[in-house]
Amino acid sequence: TITVENVWAEFGDQIVIENLDFEVKSGAFLSVVGPSGCGKSTFLRMVLGQDRPSRGRLLLDGKPLPDEPDADRGVVFQRYSVFPHLTVLGNVVLAYELGQSRFLGKLFGAAKRRAKERAEELIVAVGLGAHRDKHPSALSGGMQQRLAIAQALAKDPKVLLLDEPFGALDPGTRAQMHALIKPLWEQAGMTVIMVTHDLKEAFNLGTRVVAFDKVRHDPQAPGRYGARVTYDLDLTREGAVPV
Ligand code: ATP
Ligand code: MG
Repeated sequence: TITVENVWAEFGDQIVIENLDFEVKSGAFLSVVGPSGCGKSTFLRMVLGQDRPSRGRLLLDGKPLPDEPDADRGVVFQRYSVFPHLTVLGNVVLAYELGQSRFLGKLFGAAKRRAKERAEELIVAVGLGAHRDKHPSALSGGMQQRLAIAQALAKDPKVLLLDEPFGALDPGTRAQMHALIKPLWEQAGMTVIMVTHDLKEAFNLGTRVVAFDKVRHDPQAPGRYGARVTYDLDLTREGAVPV
């Protein structure tokens, strides 16, 4: 369970997020929607540990989330920068090693073989089996996003954070990515938080949809109010039907 406890994001005197206060149950797929600039990416960065809430706390299973990204949290951005000089396999093996290295340092012998096996499994799972030895420059946008997902999953994270991960893809490739991410999420038992501008995507993939908005925004006093949760819909409840 991720606990978002009275979390604010303030930059100088600008309030971006105002008092988010909710829980995300383990295994949930939370879609976050809201207008551009309302603080969705800021929220994800706080959950990731790249930004710190100016007030409030974020907990994972009751313990404060570390202020730095760690192996518990995987992330996929709209455009992911993979390492161009490494192959598909090399990129996923490296992500796996980084996920382990806080315990083990660089991997050798059996651990190295295990890293390679796991990376190969993930590459097949995201449909890149035939492209294992290619460099990212030889991949299409959709394939690069698949690679980014394989890298995020290589850490075997408890929480997967997706910031408009499919925003740059054409509709056909998006549909393929939806068909890919859902079983991966179900099998891994992860908690997913996905920011998207696409409502259909939010409702089709999510078990819950939360909208952020600056409800009391006053043009005379920009920055005085931050975004809050304006609706919170549990799609697993009886009567809630996906679009
Ligand atoms: P979009 O849908 O366009 O991606 P968003 O909801 O993700 O928008 P954010 O990127 O979280 O919005 O930005 C929200 C606001 O927070 C913006 O006004 C931005 O300028 C401000 N902001 C974010 N990070 C910082 C920072 N480090 N310093 C100052 N202001 C910031
Ligand atoms: Mg954003």
